[in-house]
Amino acid sequence: MLVLDGKIASAAVKASLLQQTQALKAAGKRAPHLAAILVGNNGASETYVASKVKNCEETGFGSSLIRFTDDVSEAELLAEIAELNADSNVDGILVQLPLPKHIDDEKIIEAIHPDKDVDGFHPTNIGRMVQGLDTFIPATPYGVLLMLEHFNIETKGKHAVVVGRSNIVGRPMSILLSSERPQGNASVSLCHRHTPKEELIKITQQADILVVAVGIPEFITADMIKPGAVIIDVGITRVEDATAKKGFRIKGDVNYEQAITKAAAVTPVPGGVGLMTIAGLLKNTMKAYEGKFYHN
Ligand code: NAP
Repeated sequence: MLVLDGKIASAAVKASLLQQTQALKAAGKRAPHLAAILVGNNGASETYVASKVKNCEETGFGSSLIRFTDDVSEAELLAEIAELNADSNVDGILVQLPLPKHIDDEKIIEAIHPDKDVDGFHPTNIGRMVQGLDTFIPATPYGVLLMLEHFNIETKGKHAVVVGRSNIVGRPMSILLSSERPQGNASVSLCHRHTPKEELIKITQQADILVVAVGIPEFITADMIKPGAVIIDVGITRVEDATAKKGFRIKGDVNYEQAITKAAAVTPVPGGVGLMTIAGLLKNTMKAYEGKFYHN
């Protein structure tokens, strides 16, 4: 059984980016710069943004963290995004989700210039991805592709099953795996809340590659796994645990202990896809910097 270790795969991506950044700096150029907007003080969001900023530092990128309290108005956020869009020293902009209820996520995402949309959520970029055009791939599915690439996992001709159809993970993942591209060319089944559980079990049992993004801890059990499958667990849920130092534990969507008895390869949680999402985000930021977007 192979552990698809996100620390190893993301370190390889980051080492290559660091080399590129060092070469840029040696040539007297500035480094890529990521601007992150954080609204409120949601614990998980704080952790994710802090990690993204730290990873920028580790790869020699510049970063800025712009914080707002959760009573910020939509207009204030839009004004900040407009400023960052116009700033030629900022290559990538990300707005950490979720946003407070009084703010329209879609409006905010669409305000980010598509050329700076390093999370890959803008409808223009999603449209380009669907058509197989050069674009920013949404950071989490991109991270999964980078993970598959790093561990040389063949997807061509395989049956890939994706559970979950969100705009940021499941749906783009299913499109990418079925596309004519490296880490693509799979036959893909996409399951969701309306897939009856008995049907879902039959489908996941056929998966050579199973990607799970539902947000339900340990949703996938041994009986749902094909022997020898590759399991990609995207789920991250904080589960209360009084015995844990922080009062909670991070759980994936796959029962890891059960999965390792049947699968050929499994991503751990934490230490799997989460780290690869950041690697995807950094790669997109370098891409934004290089300005290749729309031009090759
Ligand atoms: P989401 O927007 O809540 O989407 C969950 C998806 O799961 C929906 O499509 C939903 O179906 C489907 N679903 C829910 N219950 C189901 C069931 N019983 N059977 C089959 N499908 C079911 O979540 P998300 O943003 O995609 O995130 C999913 C998980 O990944 C969360 O734990 C999140 O924290 C984690 N995540 C991790 C990373 C990372 O970097 N590792 C990044 C993003 C998200 P419907 O569409 O029918 O409602």
